[in-house]
Amino acid sequence: MSHVFPRHSKLNPPVAVGGEGCYLIDSTGKRYLDGSGGAAVSCLGHGDKEVAAAIKAQIDTLAFAHTGFFTSEPAEALADLLIEHAPAGLDRVYFVSGGSEATEAAIKLARQYFVEKGEPKRGKLIARKQSYHGNTIGALSAGGNEWRRAQFGPLLLDVSHIDPCYEYRLRRDDESAEAYGLRAAQALEDEILRLGPETVMAFMAEPVVGATAGAVPPAPGYFRRIREICDKYGVLLILDEVMCGMGRTGTLFACEQDGVAPDILCIAKGLGAGYQPVGAMLCTADIYDTLAAGSGFFQHGHTYIGHPVATAAGLAVVRALLGRGLVGRAARQGETLMRKLTERFGQHPHVGDIRGRGMFRGIELVADRDTKAPFDPGKGVAGKIKKAAFEAGLICYPMSGTIDGKTGDHVLLAPPFIIEDAQLDELTDKLALAIEAAI
Ligand code: PLP
Repeated sequence: MSHVFPRHSKLNPPVAVGGEGCYLIDSTGKRYLDGSGGAAVSCLGHGDKEVAAAIKAQIDTLAFAHTGFFTSEPAEALADLLIEHAPAGLDRVYFVSGGSEATEAAIKLARQYFVEKGEPKRGKLIARKQSYHGNTIGALSAGGNEWRRAQFGPLLLDVSHIDPCYEYRLRRDDESAEAYGLRAAQALEDEILRLGPETVMAFMAEPVVGATAGAVPPAPGYFRRIREICDKYGVLLILDEVMCGMGRTGTLFACEQDGVAPDILCIAKGLGAGYQPVGAMLCTADIYDTLAAGSGFFQHGHTYIGHPVATAAGLAVVRALLGRGLVGRAARQGETLMRKLTERFGQHPHVGDIRGRGMFRGIELVADRDTKAPFDPGKGVAGKIKKAAFEAGLICYPMSGTIDGKTGDHVLLAPPFIIEDAQLDELTDKLALAIEAAI
């Protein structure tokens, strides 16, 4: 009997013993095509020798030095590399061990910034429905997914959730994508005014919404208008690129494609590519300098932040992404994936929408294409697809719940950037089988 506390005790998960390129292998020898990179983590694929060598070299040199006393060479080098390529204005990197730690740190940094700036009334956070920002209790408070929040209320933070930017369900037929983008962004200004601008500290959003929505990209102009509104009221813009960042959408940072730079940017997942648990929060010089000139101390921190081995892995991953041209490859192979999905599922009676950017794609499933009516949640479509795909040797990321986290089903696809055309065919074939089995 296993003593591991698994995520789903009813699933009796197999034991993973190996990884090769785009495949994972279990203890029976069965191979699984990693069509979602786990949860949009494995951007380089499995078994990357250069990353493994960098980790080994770092362990041999220095495994750990507490950040209460030291910084380290890999942390310094990775911070330099990230800032060199980051959206304009971002200047400092605070390393953490994962996505929830990055968003928690962002929320606390925003709060401390305003306290030290002499604006302590600014404590409210605005986020969006249909979002996920992590599972620790602060990050969970920020997320707008009802299914995840339901059992834990009342949550800790004062967060309000506006409608997301979600063309498939919220754009009117008589509205252009641009007009819809502006209308969706207006919800932020309305909420800031309703709460009182002097009480709002930040707006948090994923540029391309991942796990809880199935790769929903913003409408054109949405984030530029969001940036203007944040600037108008002195509200910080926090972008959560934990899932969609690190090349996944075809540019190193997803927000580059929307022409905006945030005040705080959260990354994780693809930063370590699964080789080490590592995430980061990037912030502007203004935020850093405000704390530096004030208390001089960010009232935060965990034992393993800035871990030398984790940051050495992150450094090797970012060097691989940039040095091997893998971000451009994610953009190109992402278009191939989109074409194959459209050929295979474009006319499918239960596929309402196929969307996303780069190697970050989603399919929304509906009971009726014309009315866009979702499946009855009791039917458990997403769960059945996950099970059938896994049996067929495909790892994908189906979830139920779209705008309200209660109704709707979608499948998220986020394969390694190294995936070949033939493996994309295998992915679409196995996904088609799983969808047929589930509906
Ligand atoms: N933010 C986003 C957008 C995510 O998709 C996730 C995880 O899926 C998180 C935060 C939390 O990251 P982690 O699971 O590493 O804590």
